[in-house]
Amino acid sequence: MVGDFSSLRGQDRAVSLLRRYLSTGNVPPGLLFHGEEGIGKEKAANAFIASLFCGSRTPGGACGACPDCRLLASGAHPNLLRVSPENHFIQIAEIRALKEELSLKAFSDRVRVALICPADRMTLQAANALLKTLEEPPPSTHLVLVAHRLSELPVTIVSRCQKIPFSTLAADVVEEILRGLPGACAGHSPGTIRAAAACSGGSPGRTLLLLDEMEEDRRMWTELFSGLDPAAVAAAGESWKKGGERKGQISVPLSMARDLALLSSGTNEAIINGDLGEPLRAIAGRKTPNGWIRALQALLSMSRMPPQAQKRLALEAFLYRLHGEG
Ligand SMILES: [Zn+2]
Repeated sequence: MVGDFSSLRGQDRAVSLLRRYLSTGNVPPGLLFHGEEGIGKEKAANAFIASLFCGSRTPGGACGACPDCRLLASGAHPNLLRVSPENHFIQIAEIRALKEELSLKAFSDRVRVALICPADRMTLQAANALLKTLEEPPPSTHLVLVAHRLSELPVTIVSRCQKIPFSTLAADVVEEILRGLPGACAGHSPGTIRAAAACSGGSPGRTLLLLDEMEEDRRMWTELFSGLDPAAVAAAGESWKKGGERKGQISVPLSMARDLALLSSGTNEAIINGDLGEPLRAIAGRKTPNGWIRALQALLSMSRMPPQAQKRLALEAFLYRLHGEG
């Protein structure tokens, strides 16, 4: 159910903060839900907003059955104003339209909410236009901002909001969440799911994005790590050519280089790609632990390159270097 906090896993701190606001009735006018993408911020924001509107709220959240809950579920609640990016950014015109709407008399004298998601896509002008409303919102109005990267929001916005922090999740919790989503794991082996969860940086949403290409990416990198095949290098470069690698794609070689460093030093514990078995162990033996750590460091510095940089060239140079040294 949309207004239910109980389905949010691993976000106890955020949920208890939100529950406290609801139970005391002391809800700040500006709330900023922040943390990695795909870890439940939007789901929590929707549950919180539903609880704010609900006429028969329970300790678990919104009732799901009252007129407000039904209106919200139909996507037509007149007191919820949603602002999302048009063409990648939230422009000043959208914020001006929101302010205009908020300045009109409310549909009723009950709570109104503006949900801005993702708020870190506001242009600087749009963010500046929002400042005054954040400072002095109209009566009974709450602004809920959802942001994946706090650093991309002006401090003037951040400082005017009550922050609700969301944490990344342990890989086994991510795995469990995925198993609970109908159809999410279909066609994937348990080993692939485990590796994708471990590579996602603790985000179920990102795990889902990784999962489809995971098997192919791991197959490709097993080949790339095992020896130098110029055709395979060129194919890998080709797959990265459009402004850098596909989002999160580098986490696969990172996880494998980490495993190879551990395996070559004789450690068998905490291996992410353990299901790749003997082939991975055989590759590990081809370099010293330090050799694999150098490879890991090179991949890490590549992962920090901005997406517009020439990652394809960097990737190709990395692979030639990898097989040229011990
Ligand atoms: Zn309700």
